[in-house]
Amino acid sequence: MAQHEKPDFKDKKVVVVGLGISGLWTARYLVRHGARVTLSEMNRESDLSPSALDDLKSIGVILETGGHITQTFLDADMIVLSPGVPHDIRPVCAARDNGVPVTGELELASRLIDTPVIAVTGTNGKSTVTTALGSILKDAGYDVFVGGNIGTPLMAYAYEEKRADFVVAEVSSFQLDTSDMFSPYIAVVLNISPDHLDRYSCYEDYTLSKLKIFKNQGHGQFAIVNDDDERLTSFQPSSGVVILRYGFAKKAGRHACVENDRLVTCLEGSSPCSFDLNSYRLPGRHNLENLMAIVLAARAAGIEADVIQRAINQLKGLPHRVEYIMEFEGIAFYDDSKATNVDAAVRAILSFDRPLILIAGGRHKGGDYTPLVTASKGKVKKAIFLGEAKDLLSASFEGAISFLQANDMEEAVSLAFSCAAGGDIVLLAPACSSFDMFRDYGHRGRVFKAAVEKLAQ
Ligand code: ADP
Repeated sequence: MAQHEKPDFKDKKVVVVGLGISGLWTARYLVRHGARVTLSEMNRESDLSPSALDDLKSIGVILETGGHITQTFLDADMIVLSPGVPHDIRPVCAARDNGVPVTGELELASRLIDTPVIAVTGTNGKSTVTTALGSILKDAGYDVFVGGNIGTPLMAYAYEEKRADFVVAEVSSFQLDTSDMFSPYIAVVLNISPDHLDRYSCYEDYTLSKLKIFKNQGHGQFAIVNDDDERLTSFQPSSGVVILRYGFAKKAGRHACVENDRLVTCLEGSSPCSFDLNSYRLPGRHNLENLMAIVLAARAAGIEADVIQRAINQLKGLPHRVEYIMEFEGIAFYDDSKATNVDAAVRAILSFDRPLILIAGGRHKGGDYTPLVTASKGKVKKAIFLGEAKDLLSASFEGAISFLQANDMEEAVSLAFSCAAGGDIVLLAPACSSFDMFRDYGHRGRVFKAAVEKLAQ
């Protein structure tokens, strides 16, 4: 809960950097509270959303598009970065060196929000866990805002006058990079594995950025960590913070584990709870890890066991996360287009016990594909690579797993089908981002699905 004084923006010159959905809401909020706002954006006006541009113009925001003007940054009283904007671009560094405060959208929103925040970060599983927690809290009768890095930005919540009982926020490492005083009531870190190494100078920096979620937590707040994760098991919270650890096996110091098909929790001050997992439908061990985090966060928020059990029985996976598409000629097709890094693709492969044809590739993000090769051994019959990373993937798989290369998704699906036999699974799990060939992971998943449907006709 934010106890600090809310900033006064009256007549302040604020530069909002980046015209995505979070920049839009930030600008709206600032104008409403009396600031003189300039929105600075690298893309040209012709490449931006016309309705967003019209909206901003109509409320008097000055637009500087097609590049940043350093002088505007130097003249500002404050700069607010959107999550997609690196915090070390030249005009930002110049302003910072000149003493201009630079902050991020998450940080700004957290100074404006008094609602208890449940914040979820990690390399993978954030959207799954955030969405599930939101629905459990709603089921329990609470008024909840779910957003952040998923869906609606927190600045949209700050803008609305209405207040919820809880904010459940998906938080990315980029948002944490520009946070300073963010102090969630419940902070969850699901896992840390190599990702975004194209934007961080090293893995250590990426790890530290994730752990920043705990930095300002204090007495009575909760820190929830995956105790099976080598980067998180040694984590120690600040004094007064209640730490809740989860892991598969029962161990001293753990507050949730899996025992005989049941998820068991034990929190200080409340009696142990045991949840039946027979109706939990999300695939793979990683989704059981996610569930332990979900259940602990829900218990920390005071949710009754019967509400949690009902949610466990009803939780559905999100689209493009190991999503079943269809089966024909005995071959099942799964879309895990959201597996944009190596660990997510590895987890998808490990979720199946049938022979796999793996479709992978896209834009390389700087990681090492060795874990993908290791996970594929004995599971993947054939790999099909596409996109900018196809040669890098081929070099990693050479001599270990047989592979082919495709020029586009339709060819990849058709090659996969020709290599598959009844009983096999064709899995799209790219281990790369989609931006070389698609607008985003959703677009890539839809193109995959359309290619599968075309083949099935
Ligand atoms: P995020 O919001 O962190 O990207 P998502 O829930 O959208 O997470 O899932 C992204 C990808 O990671 C999907 O491929 C999904 O199957 C996979 N995934 C989900 N949970 C985990 C986990 N705990 N560990 C590893 N991979 C996971």
